[in-house]
Amino acid sequence: MTTPDQPEKSQPSDEDPTSGKRPERLNFIQEIVEDDLRTGKWGGRVHTRFPPEPNGYLHIGHAKSICLNFGLAEKYGGLCNMRFDDTNPTKEEEEYVQSILADIRWLGFDWQDRLYFASDYFEQLYEWAVQLIRDGNAYVCDLTPDQVREYRGTLTQPGRESPYRGRSVTENLDMLTRMRAGEFPDGSRTLRAKIVMASPNLNMRDPVLYRILKATHHRTGDAWCIYPMYDFTHGQCDSIERITHSICTLEFENHRPLYDWFIKSLGIYHPQQIEFARLNLTYTVISKRRLLELVNGKHVSGWDDPRMPTLAGLRRRGYTPEAIRLFCERIGMAKFNSTIEIAQLENALRDDLNRRAPRVMAVLKPLKVVIDNYPAETTEQLEAVNNPEDAAAGTRQVPFCRELYIEQDDFREVPPKKYHRLAPGVEVRLRYAYLITCTRVEKDPQTGEPTVVHCTYDPATRGGNTPDGRKVKGTIHWVSAQHALAAEVRLYDHLLSKPDCDDVPEGGRWLDNLNPDSLVVATALVEPSLATAAAGSFCQFERQGYFTVDQDSRPDKLVFNRSVSLRDTWAKIEKQPS
Ligand code: ATP
Ligand code: MG
Repeated sequence: MTTPDQPEKSQPSDEDPTSGKRPERLNFIQEIVEDDLRTGKWGGRVHTRFPPEPNGYLHIGHAKSICLNFGLAEKYGGLCNMRFDDTNPTKEEEEYVQSILADIRWLGFDWQDRLYFASDYFEQLYEWAVQLIRDGNAYVCDLTPDQVREYRGTLTQPGRESPYRGRSVTENLDMLTRMRAGEFPDGSRTLRAKIVMASPNLNMRDPVLYRILKATHHRTGDAWCIYPMYDFTHGQCDSIERITHSICTLEFENHRPLYDWFIKSLGIYHPQQIEFARLNLTYTVISKRRLLELVNGKHVSGWDDPRMPTLAGLRRRGYTPEAIRLFCERIGMAKFNSTIEIAQLENALRDDLNRRAPRVMAVLKPLKVVIDNYPAETTEQLEAVNNPEDAAAGTRQVPFCRELYIEQDDFREVPPKKYHRLAPGVEVRLRYAYLITCTRVEKDPQTGEPTVVHCTYDPATRGGNTPDGRKVKGTIHWVSAQHALAAEVRLYDHLLSKPDCDDVPEGGRWLDNLNPDSLVVATALVEPSLATAAAGSFCQFERQGYFTVDQDSRPDKLVFNRSVSLRDTWAKIEKQPS
């Protein structure tokens, strides 16, 4: 299920612990590019493109393609174009164009002045269609879409030739002109390439080049009522832009003969198509069609729901561009489809944020602690380290007073074995504060749950130091009851409850695998330094995980999203029998 068919190029063991990066080893596409540079195949040029269809938001799979295409250009001093493959006006929208551009910029890539749209080339593509007709390589076919499909045959049966295949050049030119002029209804005719109906490759069985579609295009408006198909568009756009390496995902491998056929038949500049494995991730879905199903079915709050694997969702979840680029670098490039563990994505985020995220204290499930021997009126400001991984991050002050909150999980009246946190008679360190010892506990008479834990503190241990060198095993976090701020915390988990979304019983739907606990909302108490944290900023709640300030956050109602938990060591201890 989750193991790759083929090991991906980089293995976890080679990572440089200081930079988090791998020593350089070329992936198979870089090898092709370097060979081409050596042989001078493209005159020393490297020119790639990223060609999304503006029919949805970009997702983590696209990020792999973006990092690859823009990355190659960066690495080899080449160029990467941004090009929208906008040939399907019924599914495409300006909103998607804008979100895609914003996401690519956010990832840190720049197309400079090379922003193109396939629709900019519609006139040229039409001229090429005319050229194919003139050369006897295309014809107007009056079969309906269903008939075209039926005539195409199957993998085991050859196709049949359309009865319109023998139309004269003059008639074909006339028909195409009239198609363009809007004389015929949608779906009544197509322009098709004349290749071979007996080809074992279905794509070569007289594929459709143009269809009639009276739809308003988000850029060309009503200028066109015939639209070119993807296969007739993509390679020719690559050719116009003088792309050297046209990189796409493996599904297009058996479109390559067609890609080459159009370019050769037209006698134009010929880029090289190269296919790589698309990214699949466990516990999520990546295809745009399914993401759209989630949005339209209101299973998520929108394209930027933090559970979505879209770049907008990941950003709102707290993913950084650096983490996503690190992930893409680590997974490498394969020639065979495989599924990557979502843990690899989460690890990339942890590795990035571990170095950069300021630490703060926040209590997710509060339990009151009263330090009985601490003066009631006093507030002390204690110095806390902002990031132990980064000395330059400095320190901050956190207020301490008599009444505090700690995590419910950090107290047990009857502690299990190896439980090094607070329990009656046990001494623990309050992070950056004092050593405290539990003296007694108040409980809810009905449920027996602890409600208030009483402790004493040792004034000689300010800052958590032990002048006498005595050992305490546990260090726990806390917030001051008087100063803490209430905050909404959105605890996100995997979108799906199974690694493979298609793992459903007979007759089931993939949506049945949605994880009902993918979002749990709680109220936490956070240290007051977070009062002014800006939307999109990130921090580590000590011992809890990395959190980001959501765009819904307001000074009077803070909202934090859990981006990723810390590697959880406590859970294991809890599960051990006492
Ligand atoms: P989807 O299947 O999600 O609808 P798509 O291929 O139709 O994706 P496009 O907008 O056409 O989406 O994709 C733009 C580029 O991103 C293409 O070059 C495509 O190959 C690449 N791409 C799309 N999905 C993935 C993925 N999962 N892994 C790697 N590259 C991808
Ligand atoms: Mg596509």
